[in-house]
Amino acid sequence: MKVLLISDIHANLMALEAVLEDAKNCPYEAIWCLGDLVGYGPHPNECIELLRQQPKPFLCIAGNHDWASLGRVPLDEFNPDARRACEWTMARLTYENRAYLASLPESRQEGPFLLVHGSPRQPIWEYILYPGLAAANFPHFQTPFCLVGHTHIPIIFEEASVPEETLALAPSLDGPVSLAEGRFIVNPGSVGQPRDGDPRASYALLDLEALEVQFRRIPYPVERTQEEMLRWNLPPRLIARLSYGW
Ligand code: ZN
Repeated sequence: MKVLLISDIHANLMALEAVLEDAKNCPYEAIWCLGDLVGYGPHPNECIELLRQQPKPFLCIAGNHDWASLGRVPLDEFNPDARRACEWTMARLTYENRAYLASLPESRQEGPFLLVHGSPRQPIWEYILYPGLAAANFPHFQTPFCLVGHTHIPIIFEEASVPEETLALAPSLDGPVSLAEGRFIVNPGSVGQPRDGDPRASYALLDLEALEVQFRRIPYPVERTQEEMLRWNLPPRLIARLSYGW
């Protein structure tokens, strides 16, 4: 069974549609989303509804922006641009979509995979950016694999017997990476706001039998998302960053 693994959609409908279209070429049987459906982008309701309407089972966990758009975290924890986008999102969300976001758990386990937005020890907030942070988190989950989002950077961390030797593997787009031996923390990158210098939407396909993960990058019409953000007077910096992937 293959799983479409996505994270950090951030209300970017054009990017989400491009990912769903591309993934059709590789049949999958479920969609797992690692949080931040909304925040920053111009289509919060449309993104939630498109994913919930998919014919394949869709499961999702909560991200910090999902919580912020429900008023569950103080907005002064965000920078001014993110805060403005949050306030805009709060005003736009339908009652039904708010209820859906409110229903999302902080973590969930699917077979040998733990799913969290940030990290096993701080599911909503911690960014696993470096091997040292990954090493500190391996003891905080029991399964072989943990799937995370939040940093918007596609990466794989492999546990080492000595924490200082924890590996960070830059994911290859050429072929699948084997997860068959060892313990791993895997981040599929961000669909709607990549931050690794590549503006293309990022996602991954997880093969649950072969224990392999294939990373993908997909171009989408960035300028259409930007036009919509401009139309809604969303912060200029958030509009500009989509062109560069930072
Ligand atoms: Zn995010």
